[in-house]
Amino acid sequence: LGMPSVPTKVAERRKSRQIQVGTVAVGGDAPVSVQSMTTTRTSDIGATLQQIAELTASGCQIVRVACPTQDDADALPVIARKSQIPVIADIHFQPKYVFAAIEAGCAAVRVNPGNIKQFDDKVKEIAQAAKEHGTPIRIGVNAGSLDRRLLQKYGKATPEALVESALWEASLFEEHDFRDIKISVKHNDPVVMIEAYRQLAEQCDYPLHLGVTEAGPAFQGTIKSAVAFGALLSQGIGDTIRVSLSAPPVEEIKVGIKILESLNLRQRTLEIVSCPSCGRAQVDVYKLAEEVTAGLTGMDVPLRVAVMGCVVNGPGEAREADLGVASGNGKGQIFVKGEVIKTVPESKIVETLIEEAMKLAAQMEADGVVS
Ligand code: SF4
Repeated sequence: LGMPSVPTKVAERRKSRQIQVGTVAVGGDAPVSVQSMTTTRTSDIGATLQQIAELTASGCQIVRVACPTQDDADALPVIARKSQIPVIADIHFQPKYVFAAIEAGCAAVRVNPGNIKQFDDKVKEIAQAAKEHGTPIRIGVNAGSLDRRLLQKYGKATPEALVESALWEASLFEEHDFRDIKISVKHNDPVVMIEAYRQLAEQCDYPLHLGVTEAGPAFQGTIKSAVAFGALLSQGIGDTIRVSLSAPPVEEIKVGIKILESLNLRQRTLEIVSCPSCGRAQVDVYKLAEEVTAGLTGMDVPLRVAVMGCVVNGPGEAREADLGVASGNGKGQIFVKGEVIKTVPESKIVETLIEEAMKLAAQMEADGVVS
């Protein structure tokens, strides 16, 4: 009793070196950041900036834009300047766009070594340009585009192959005394991905960008990412995350933020604790939970609201939450901070909870808990 239901910290963070992606620190003791990628044509500056603004509003901290053509490269200076959050240019195949992105003032550049021909020869120049501009590089190894030499050596994209590829490319930069690097080793199979990051975490101190690549449509991708990131973050591994979904990028941010909140890696915002309902329920729990959620959506305070169907676990959970209801006999007992403040008829439960939530939120703001 009195113990928090979740530990404050899931694990000690792995000690990684810190890099600076524009205004966002990644690695070291910096909070784990959430990022996404635009789906617009980067050359369409207006549409891209519009999507970046939507992502920023949803809590995205770093955004990546694809740069497959010269027109896209030409758009980078304006996008990098006007975006409210740091912009990373994502470069495949063409080293010349790496230089363009650095010159454009992008906060970082992601390169996929397996996809950049003659990459090895260009490393010296890239390292030089990146160093001059203070631009970090993400070495983004991807199972689908693994270096052919490693594919031959290992037969397929095993964890060892992904890690060897990443560390090999990092070593090329290290030869030129460039260590402003973060690394990702993505695979669509969480089991392979988890093992790859574990091995990588042991073999270097670079900050790690977590991702399950091609995770799939929203439902499957959410589960895969939550499981994989959860396994790694709960061991202290991971400095920035990107959830990949075949869904609008704002959805990726929502999922990413919830994953971090679930692990206490970020302050929880509104949390509805509702029971699954069962044969004992004396109220329509789904409807009640949905109505309460809808009524409180948009509240940005760390409020835990319990919606419980009956008196078995109801009072207990409702008492542990900031605010709650335990239903029974056509009535709802309303709890605030562990005390029953009133009992209301079922038809008044939702409005009473919303009213009380508003009061608590105002109190938290007055107390400086949230701004
Ligand atoms: Fe069933 Fe009551 Fe538990 Fe809800 S709180 S799941 S209704 S026993």
